[in-house]
Amino acid sequence: MSNNIKISPEDKLLFYIGHETIPELINYLKDKNVVHIVLVSDENEYRALGARIEKALCEAGFDVDNIVLHGEKIGANEEYIVQTLLPANDSEQLFIAVGSGTVTDLVRFVSYRAKSYFISLPTAPSVDGFASNGSAMFIRDYKQTIMSRPPCAIFADMETLCNAPKPLIAAGFGDMIGKFTALADWKLANLLNGDIYDSAIAERSRIARNKVVSQVNGLEKDRETSIKSVMEALYEEGLCMLEFGNSRPASGAEHQLSHYWEMKLLRENRPAVFHGSKVGLASIWIAKYFEMIREMSKEEVVNRLENTPLFDTEVEIQKIKRGYGDKISDFIVKTQEVHLSMTEEKYNSLKTNIINNWETLQEIALEVPSPDEIISMLKAVGGITQPEAIGLTDADVRDALEYAQYVRKAFTILNISQMLGWKPVV
Ligand SMILES: [Zn+2]
Repeated sequence: MSNNIKISPEDKLLFYIGHETIPELINYLKDKNVVHIVLVSDENEYRALGARIEKALCEAGFDVDNIVLHGEKIGANEEYIVQTLLPANDSEQLFIAVGSGTVTDLVRFVSYRAKSYFISLPTAPSVDGFASNGSAMFIRDYKQTIMSRPPCAIFADMETLCNAPKPLIAAGFGDMIGKFTALADWKLANLLNGDIYDSAIAERSRIARNKVVSQVNGLEKDRETSIKSVMEALYEEGLCMLEFGNSRPASGAEHQLSHYWEMKLLRENRPAVFHGSKVGLASIWIAKYFEMIREMSKEEVVNRLENTPLFDTEVEIQKIKRGYGDKISDFIVKTQEVHLSMTEEKYNSLKTNIINNWETLQEIALEVPSPDEIISMLKAVGGITQPEAIGLTDADVRDALEYAQYVRKAFTILNISQMLGWKPVV
C-alpha cells in the first residue's frame, strides 16, 4: 500500500509527553494521511512498547511492517542499516522508531536516505539526541555523525519511561550532568579559538541542565515528575543542537572521551556501555581539568607554555595511530587536517590568547562544579562514578585523556591541557 503522506520537512516538530500516547499517535497518523508504517525496535524495546504500538496500529487499520532487530550487539552500522531498510518499499514511508539511542539513530538515517519521515517513540529518558538531525553511525567501526533529518514527531510515553531500566534513566541524568563541562568548553573554544557561540542557545541548554540537576534527589520521592523533567530537558537539548546546527551546545570534552571509549570498546571487541553513563563518568575528569584552570596561577601558565614547543606533525600522526589503531586512524588523521597543519605563528598566537585571557578562563571554569560535586550528583541518581563499574580500566581513562582530543574537530579543554603539560590524573 502506498502513502500520500501530508508531512513536510518544514513542519514544526511535534512533542507529546503523557499517558495517552496511543490515541495521540493514531490521531496524528490519521491526520497526516499515513497508511503504511515501518515499525522498528529491538527485542527489549518491542517488549517494552513496540508490541503494544503494533497491536494498536493494526487494530486501527494501518498497514504495519514490523521489524524487530536481533543480535547481541545491535549497532547503528552497515549490518543494521540493511535490516532496517529492507522492508521499505520505493515510495515515501513513515518509519516509527521505538527505542532509545541506537534504533533512533538507525531509523533517522535510513528514513532520511529513503526520502521518508520518522516518528520517535523513546523507551527511556537516556540520551539527548531524540530531536536532533544528526545520526551517530558506526561505519567501518568509525563513529561519525551523519546529517539526516529530525523526527516529525516525538511521542514520549510516561508509563514506558517510568518503567525503563534504572541504569538507562541514570544514563539520561549522566548525559545532562555532562552539560556543565560542555557549556564551559563551548565558551572556552569561543574565547581561544574563535568558535561560533550563541549565548541564547547556551542559556537554554543551561536552563535544561539546571532543571535536571534540581531533580537529582527527586527520583525516589516523585519518580514521575523527575523522569518527566529529564525527558523534557533531553528534548530541549536536542532542539538546541538542531537550531544551532551541530552538537556544540550539548557536547564538549566529556563527549570526546565518551566517543573515544565507544570506538575503543568496539575495536577491542568489548561490551558496549550506555552513552550517558560514559558521558557522566567522563565529566568527572573534565571537571578536574576545569578545577586546574581555577587553581593555576597566570605565572605558572606562562612558564608552562614557554616550555611547550609546537608538536612535530609526523610525531603527532604517529600518536594518533597509537591511539586509534590501524583501521580508523586514517579517518581520524583526516579530521585533524587543521590541527596538523598548525603553523608556528598560529601556535604562538594561541599561547598569547591563553595567557591574555587566563582570568576570563578562570571565570568560565567557575561554572563547572568540582569533581566531588559531579560525583555526588551522579551517585544521587545511581549513576556511574567508577570506570570499573562499566568495564573500563585506568588505562582506558589515561588513553582517553591523551587521545580523545583527536576524535572530532572541536576545540576543547583537552587541546589546552596538552599545551599546559597536564598529566592525566587517574
Ligand atoms: Zn550526549
